[in-house]
Amino acid sequence: MASSSDSNSFLLGNYARFDLTLTHGQGSRVWDTDGREYLDFGAGIAVCSLGHAHPGITKAITEQAGKLLHCSNLYGSPGQETLAEALSEQVVGYPGKSVFVNSGAEANETLIKLARRFGVLSPQADGTPRYGILTFEKSFHGRTFAGISATGQAKIHDGFGPLLPGFTHLPYNDVEALEAAIDANTVAILLEPIQGEGGIRMATPEFLKAAADLAKKHNLLLLLDEVQCGFGRIGNLAGWKAILEEDAEDFVPHGVSWAKGMGGGYPIGAVWVSDQLVQTKSGSLQASAVLGPGTHGTTYGGGPVACAVALAVLDTIDEEGLVDHAIGMGRRAAGLLGAIGSPAIQEVRGMGLMIGIVLDTEFFRPVVSSGEAPSSFLVKALMHAGLLTVPAGPDVVRWLPPLNLSAGDLDEAVSILESTLEKLFG
Ligand code: PLP
Repeated sequence: MASSSDSNSFLLGNYARFDLTLTHGQGSRVWDTDGREYLDFGAGIAVCSLGHAHPGITKAITEQAGKLLHCSNLYGSPGQETLAEALSEQVVGYPGKSVFVNSGAEANETLIKLARRFGVLSPQADGTPRYGILTFEKSFHGRTFAGISATGQAKIHDGFGPLLPGFTHLPYNDVEALEAAIDANTVAILLEPIQGEGGIRMATPEFLKAAADLAKKHNLLLLLDEVQCGFGRIGNLAGWKAILEEDAEDFVPHGVSWAKGMGGGYPIGAVWVSDQLVQTKSGSLQASAVLGPGTHGTTYGGGPVACAVALAVLDTIDEEGLVDHAIGMGRRAAGLLGAIGSPAIQEVRGMGLMIGIVLDTEFFRPVVSSGEAPSSFLVKALMHAGLLTVPAGPDVVRWLPPLNLSAGDLDEAVSILESTLEKLFG
């Protein structure tokens, strides 16, 4: 990675960047400033769901930009209502209401504000507002203050304390620990159905169902962070449904956050809040009524171009059958990656096109310089071989290619991985 204290740069050194600058892309491929071509299996970290330079996205941007580029949320904004309807009917399949923001962190900030507000409306027996939010080890919820406080990773907290109070980070997929952690102050459970930054770790169906049951029993909000796994990436527009399969019908979260793939590369995030009833001190209330007028807002959230793009992404996913395609490509990837049979690879896990290649870190020890994570080492080697991927923690390399990835491009990526491992380890 490039030095974060490069004195020749005018840029703040907050990103530990790879030594690569991209100029353009087409489909699953991108080109750098030297004209070198790469297969892009990071896709902007699960962002470019339709690949690069997709004509449907370009058309949505140019047409809407030529009509109305920005519109204040003081007024009705073109596309917001249609997109909100699509989130309820096409994605979640349950009545609810949505608000639009600009990023994943902002979407989660909104969920956390929803929980805090709910805790005021439904306080503890003595009237003290509830504000405890249960999140999970290795989770990632964004870089705002509430986002890092919710995140269960010490390296993200480091140097920023004191954090926002009220968050408890529990072991993921541990029903007993979850149940034991609920106390009078608890107001919500926030979880990623598949942890992305945490290393492509999937929630079990049992864990998701237990979280929903406990939320019901203790009048908690069940909040799902689908920023990375949502919008078709793991085999359903709603990621939790891909995990729960036939049990998904009885499972309705109170709130969901999306961003990344939702805009296919154009910044947009969203929060959907269910119309289901929750209990407050003055009776039952729809969860979607908890954040009333004046409680939240953003200048750019749900701008006309962002909404037009997200609608184009949804239409394209639907028209081109990209959810089923992602499932098929995911199966093909699992088969091909499993067949590599290299001792450098401990496990391949994930769903659809959210794939984690788990490395045997001991195996990498002789070739990796001290202080470097095996995942970063391999990501760099793959980059030099023409394949862009993303590390997730020290031992996992993530593949998050566009949902419309072709079988040929997938096979080429697998063969780049195979030959790179061969070159490294013989
Ligand atoms: N939540 C999850 C699960 C994420 O993976 C990310 C980003 O990686 C975020 C939230 C933050 O999103 P953003 O970077 O758009 O703020």
